[in-house]
Amino acid sequence: MADKRDYYEVLGVAKDADEAALKRAYRKLAMKYHPDRNPDDKEAEKNFKELNEAYEILKDDEKRAAYDRFGHAAFEQGGPGGFEGFGGAGGQGFGGFGDIFEEMFGEFMGGRAGGRAGGRGGGQGADLRYNKELSLEEAFSGKKAEIRVPTSVACEACDGTGAEGAAAPVTCPTCGGAGRVRSQSGFFTVERTCPTCQGRGTVIKDPCKVCGGAGRVHKEKTLSVTIPAGVEDGTRIRLAGEGEAGLRGAPPGDLYLFLGIRPHRFFHRDGADIHCRVPIPMTTAALGGQVEVPTIEGKLARITIPEGTPTGHQLRLAGKGMSVMRSKARGDMFVQVAVETPQNLTDRQKELLKEFEGDSDRAQQSPQSTGFFDKVKELWEDLKD
Ligand SMILES: [Zn+2]
Ligand SMILES: [Zn+2]
Repeated sequence: MADKRDYYEVLGVAKDADEAALKRAYRKLAMKYHPDRNPDDKEAEKNFKELNEAYEILKDDEKRAAYDRFGHAAFEQGGPGGFEGFGGAGGQGFGGFGDIFEEMFGEFMGGRAGGRAGGRGGGQGADLRYNKELSLEEAFSGKKAEIRVPTSVACEACDGTGAEGAAAPVTCPTCGGAGRVRSQSGFFTVERTCPTCQGRGTVIKDPCKVCGGAGRVHKEKTLSVTIPAGVEDGTRIRLAGEGEAGLRGAPPGDLYLFLGIRPHRFFHRDGADIHCRVPIPMTTAALGGQVEVPTIEGKLARITIPEGTPTGHQLRLAGKGMSVMRSKARGDMFVQVAVETPQNLTDRQKELLKEFEGDSDRAQQSPQSTGFFDKVKELWEDLKD
């Protein structure tokens, strides 16, 4: 085990990295090395194992403290149970000290799988992720949603205790309830965590038949969630304690609700503002008039198109945009006008337009196109020289 890599190095984090940083680093690397992503890649498999081992130790405060103090030696002897690659070395490399190390660390590592009451790292329920799609209207108004989550919940038959009939746990026969046992090792008398009850001092006599003693069962649960008005695409809502139930009364994980917002037919959202493109007839653009546009709250807003409105012109409807989370404020709505050129004209309409054209003072009435063609003319003149 001399060539084992430093756990912090394996995770690529600093020695003082906090829990969140560890978790982030772990998730990132776990994705990279996951066997499903690297089939038949021995190197990735090795890295994945190494990564899990490092994370198992560092995520647990007590184990991490032991590792910081003693390095890998902390776990080479009967340390925490249940980790692949640990234990079973039978004192090799540590000679006569093996037993002492085992005793010391057995105590030190008190919180092994299953955990003492209040201990961390043991039996806590997993965090869950739930994706939900909303329409833009729903994001605007907010809503109460019922979501159904397949998860583990506390077993009803045993009230989450894991004991048949929710019977009270009985005093541990090995340690008499002390949670620790003493043993003699050479000149030393060492106290260690009781191996029968893992330090709890009590044991379950008859495991619950429904959950097999785990204190939790698989079940779909329905949660009612309030989605606040103004949520954005990618908003994450944490529902503390609504994740998977813990083992035998250990704390549950959290549920993370990830919100996605579907694209809208008319509206395009930009933060708190809403953009909308509205086609208007050429005559309305030229003569002015009123048009009705839909708003996000499902109503119609009447807007006035001024005489001679050019295509692409933008009108602002103050306070008609999206709602803003945790605020009474609203963004604005921007209506961009697109002037529609008439099609399928009748002969009479064509006559009228020709008459209109003949009557026109182009420089006055179509300044942009007149200006443009004047410039094209100049360009030609220049080319001729
Ligand atoms: Zn049960
Ligand atoms: Zn005990």
